Amino acid sequence: MTEMNVIKPGATIGVLGGGQLGRMLALAGRNMGYRFVTLDPTEDAPCGQVADEQLVAGYDDVAAARRLAALSDVITYEFENVDAEVTEILMKESYVPQGSKLLYTTQHRLREKRAIEAAGVPVAPYEEIVSAAQLREAATRFGVPCVLKTATGGYDGKGQWVIRSLDETDEAYATLSKAGTELVLEQFIHFEKELSVIAARSPRGETKTFPAAENEHVENILHLSIVPARIAEDIQREAERLAARIADALGVIGLIAVELFLTREGQLYVNELAPRPHNSGHYTMEACRTSQFEQHVRAICNLPLGSTELLSPVVMVNVLGEHVEPLLDWIGRPECESEAVCAKVHLYGKHEAKHKRKMGHVNLLVQDIGQAMDWIERSEIWKSK
Ligand code: AMP
Repeated sequence: MTEMNVIKPGATIGVLGGGQLGRMLALAGRNMGYRFVTLDPTEDAPCGQVADEQLVAGYDDVAAARRLAALSDVITYEFENVDAEVTEILMKESYVPQGSKLLYTTQHRLREKRAIEAAGVPVAPYEEIVSAAQLREAATRFGVPCVLKTATGGYDGKGQWVIRSLDETDEAYATLSKAGTELVLEQFIHFEKELSVIAARSPRGETKTFPAAENEHVENILHLSIVPARIAEDIQREAERLAARIADALGVIGLIAVELFLTREGQLYVNELAPRPHNSGHYTMEACRTSQFEQHVRAICNLPLGSTELLSPVVMVNVLGEHVEPLLDWIGRPECESEAVCAKVHLYGKHEAKHKRKMGHVNLLVQDIGQAMDWIERSEIWKSK
């Protein structure tokens, strides 16, 4: 494969992982004329429902990985904890433009932070922790609160301990070191806002960023993404510049989601990266000229990247298990649609609406963000805990 080779529509894209990100990728790619095969252990997975074919097998099933490789012209993944042996097989037997290096980096917080720093982009002050005594010493230096995190395996706030008093350090160390991975202590950033920027880069070296999203979490799970972010334009531009810099420095192919903290003083720190489509980029589906999913397909297939222009202010609100029933009631009512708010509902086809499980999202296209907030309030959907 040379740099300028394009994988043209008609080709088959293999997706490791059959969750909602794979589903929305396949929906976008099928519109463009690509075929999809996905591998996921759960039968009738969200992506399997819309792909041409699903292989039902574990992510560490080597024979299934070989079959995926044989069926696919190009392979991508929709989560970052891909088994190293499987990646190696896929790279040998098919084409994985995203490579394994970026996964290796982003699977591990310490490696990730070092790579971000090497790109000249700021991260919160941090230190690797190898003993309880060192944790106490570092926490004393950083001051409380500070945050102890496992280097691997954490998501949605799991594998983290906010140390609020120096008396907690022994317990925090004992608890998190059970995970059997390295630990990292971070200074607590008293951020004013959490932002994210999704950047795309293609083998031909083109890089484009989507507008920064302002994200609100509830119990560590993304609740809202607001775009345009309610921040000064120069900070929006700076956040996008940092994301593009990371994409270039890390040689990203496909998407990279960059999560940032913004302090009151206007300082940006990168918190973490995800080398894939991201929940905070779902707003692009109707609000941008090109969605993050189409952009990912374009990037891995080496097509020219699409325009990321924002067409409308938008609020993306996540639908968790407990929100499904009230949402289904609400969308049948006339008040759901109005001149002011165009509500685009996306549901992922998951069979069981478990508590806190991501089941879908709604993109609210509005003229001003307040109209979306009113709609959310009036619907009473997100009052369900
Ligand atoms: P993470 O898993 O690293 O994305 O962290 C989950 C959430 O914890 C973030 O979205 C923040 O709200 C909070 N958090 C993580 N690290 C820090 C930090 N160093 N300072 C302040 N808040 C943090």
